[in-house]
Amino acid sequence: MSSVTVTLLPGDGIGTEVSSAAKEVLTETGVPIEWEVVEAGEACIEKYGTPLPEHVLESIKRNKVALKGPITTPVGKGFRSVNVTLRQSLGLYANVRPLRTLENVPSRYTNVDMVIVRENTEDLYAGVEHKVGRDAAESIKIITREASERIGRYAFELAKRQGRKKVTIVHKANIMKLSDGLFLESIRHIAESFPEIVCEDKIVDALCMNLVQQPEQFDVLVLPNLYGDIVSDLGAGLIGGLGVAPGANIGEDGAVFEAVHGSAPQIAGKNEANPLAMILSGAEMLEHLGYNDHASQVRKAIDSVLVNRELLTKDLGGNAGTREFAASICKAIQAL
Ligand code: ATP
Ligand code: MG
Repeated sequence: MSSVTVTLLPGDGIGTEVSSAAKEVLTETGVPIEWEVVEAGEACIEKYGTPLPEHVLESIKRNKVALKGPITTPVGKGFRSVNVTLRQSLGLYANVRPLRTLENVPSRYTNVDMVIVRENTEDLYAGVEHKVGRDAAESIKIITREASERIGRYAFELAKRQGRKKVTIVHKANIMKLSDGLFLESIRHIAESFPEIVCEDKIVDALCMNLVQQPEQFDVLVLPNLYGDIVSDLGAGLIGGLGVAPGANIGEDGAVFEAVHGSAPQIAGKNEANPLAMILSGAEMLEHLGYNDHASQVRKAIDSVLVNRELLTKDLGGNAGTREFAASICKAIQAL
């Protein structure tokens, strides 16, 4: 099997701990990956004067695939968000968050299995803001047909590839008739080319209530950027919290896989962080690269470790540290 080179960005705070755990677990499967480790975030600022040096972007552009730990952008020092810059410069237009109930991970629901597809490039995140006089400000919400169709196509193609049955377009077109109206209309147009997949739409507030009451009724959700951000965290809460929610940012010529959580500085360096979200993001990455057997080893090993509460990290009610939890998964891979 030919090897591939993947960029590894360890990140800030708990990032270094959870990424090294993920790298260890993926390596244990024998997957032929060469890791190109590059630093970004706080550690870089002193050395390079920016949290996102050019060589980091070049590494991802060259390798086309990266596994990334959470990166903080220092507030008030004039740096643009590293995450937003990464997404924009690499054209990562789709943020994809699979939400699957993990057996034995404490949560209120037992049968969640959906994918959230969030538009990653426009909406209120376009950053077009200005003051209107001293006491007012405006943020402009940008929605284009091109970006809406592109994310719609991504959602339907994902549904088709994964054998899923339904795509729900999420919006607030009853109030924002022009912008959200365009998002809805554009994706409905895409839906016509996928007659085998049910297309429905939901107003975002109603969706939130339905998600909490009956998450099992949803399959694939496609949302504009801001609703996508909020609903993704709600989604993480449905399956056991930030410590277990994986994610990916996908574009035409690159993909960056990352956990949903941030750098959690309060628990950084204490061997307390749960590396599961990062390990699951790694499994998603293996699938993206076509290493499905290796990904399935990782998933099976995780399932077998989750059976034993003692082996889990604190946030899941266990008393293992980050390193011990990763070591248990490695051991389970050896035993498969
Ligand atoms: P950032 O500014 O980078 O987002 P943050 O402190 O807000 O940092 P989040 O990841 O958003 O970090 O996490 C909020 C809280 O959730 C953390 O303070 C931590 O208690 C918990 N948490 C997040 N990720 C994990 C994890 N992997 N393992 C254990 N607890 C976590
Ligand atoms: Mg946070």
